[in-house]
Amino acid sequence: MRGLLKTMFSKAPEPVVDLAKVAYDWVPPSLRYGKPYRDAVSLLRKTERWDFDTLVTYQEALLGRVINHCYQNVPYYREIFDKGHLKPADIRTSDDLQKLPFLTKEIVRQRKGDLVATDFSMLERDPDSTSGSTGDPLDFLVDRPTRAMEMALALRHLWWLGYEKGDKVAEIKEDAFSDPQRICRYFPGSNHLRFSFFRVDDTKLEQMATELDRFRPRFIKAFPSSLYVLSRWMDRHNRTIPSPKCIITSSENLYPSIKEQAEKVFRAPVIDWYGQNEKVATACQCAVGQGYHIQMEQAVVELIPSGTDDFEIVGTSLQAYGMPFIRYRTKDKAIPENKPCPCGRPHPLISKIVGREGEIIITPEGKIVAPVAMDYAFYHLEEIKEGQIIQEDIRTLRVRIVPWETVSQSTRETLKKEIQYYLQSSTMNILIEEVEEIPRTSRGKRPFIISRLNMEDYI
Ligand SMILES: [Zn+2]
Repeated sequence: MRGLLKTMFSKAPEPVVDLAKVAYDWVPPSLRYGKPYRDAVSLLRKTERWDFDTLVTYQEALLGRVINHCYQNVPYYREIFDKGHLKPADIRTSDDLQKLPFLTKEIVRQRKGDLVATDFSMLERDPDSTSGSTGDPLDFLVDRPTRAMEMALALRHLWWLGYEKGDKVAEIKEDAFSDPQRICRYFPGSNHLRFSFFRVDDTKLEQMATELDRFRPRFIKAFPSSLYVLSRWMDRHNRTIPSPKCIITSSENLYPSIKEQAEKVFRAPVIDWYGQNEKVATACQCAVGQGYHIQMEQAVVELIPSGTDDFEIVGTSLQAYGMPFIRYRTKDKAIPENKPCPCGRPHPLISKIVGREGEIIITPEGKIVAPVAMDYAFYHLEEIKEGQIIQEDIRTLRVRIVPWETVSQSTRETLKKEIQYYLQSSTMNILIEEVEEIPRTSRGKRPFIISRLNMEDYI
């Protein structure tokens, strides 16, 4: 139904779309997402206080139900079970999942029809997609309980950070309004002020700072790349706003330099949320801000050694009955954490999200470089507003830079030297290219690294 409404409004004149969004915002999530949302919220209030073993028992009960459903109603999984001479009773714990093969993006592309449950109603089908770092889209279907659980998890995350009903939230997104010159719109239903980060220039950044100052949000939600540009602009122009309680980032990798810059300017902690459109694994930082708590109510998350120092995040959704994802390889990389969090919550931790899909560079010498520290190469250079690295082939890196005003030759040389230092490669060809803006993906994201290599050829 949500898909149907989206299609109807996508064909309406643009101001109607904007007003419809404001009107829709008045509908509380408990009505918008219905019973699955209300159930998820009340469940998450309870599980918060459970111990780890109780959470595991609960998770295994959900896993058993999903596996049974996949065997009975999803042709792709029935085939996998039959080929492996397995029955649903063989998969009862997260360890048992290893008996099943991984589900890759390539398989989803090739077998999409067979991954849809035969009892999944057409009206409940909500198409979604992910652009991926290479811009090659992956289409899939999301059902209501999956979306409801994600919304409930986002609400619980806000509670963890001290949110109270009615608190002001500023959301900084890449989407443009129908009038591309408009920079923000207030949504009274949720008390949110939404900003468009579409084609920002100095004038728009100044308006944004002024509007934020006037609105005084208690929380700011933003993509890391947008947050960086805004906070860097504010720093350069000595602008401040009253400190929010917290800034929440999501959707792109949060690099240390972005966190540092934003925390300095806003005098508030930056707390990160990790998830993906496929909704097979969610992990978020609590107010302690050290590790990412795995949201066990939503999915079974496996961390699989990736052949380098880090682990790939593989997820099995516990809510998705329409198009179930079992052992789905996200291609995102993380480092586990064995210590519990000082906050005392039972949800285990991931220490770091190392990089999103494809965010690594491979040198001609075969060295794999994660970009975690490389962002510093760009961001201490005063003349550079934004940067992006594209690995075109094994010997060529194209480095895009957006200047605040101009970029001098000495800055270009320093940047090149610093990238060479991080790569430790004498044979990589680094081409620096000045551009007016860094194009966003269809989802409005701006990955720091884009690799055009076929990773399987090298790792
Ligand atoms: Zn914690």
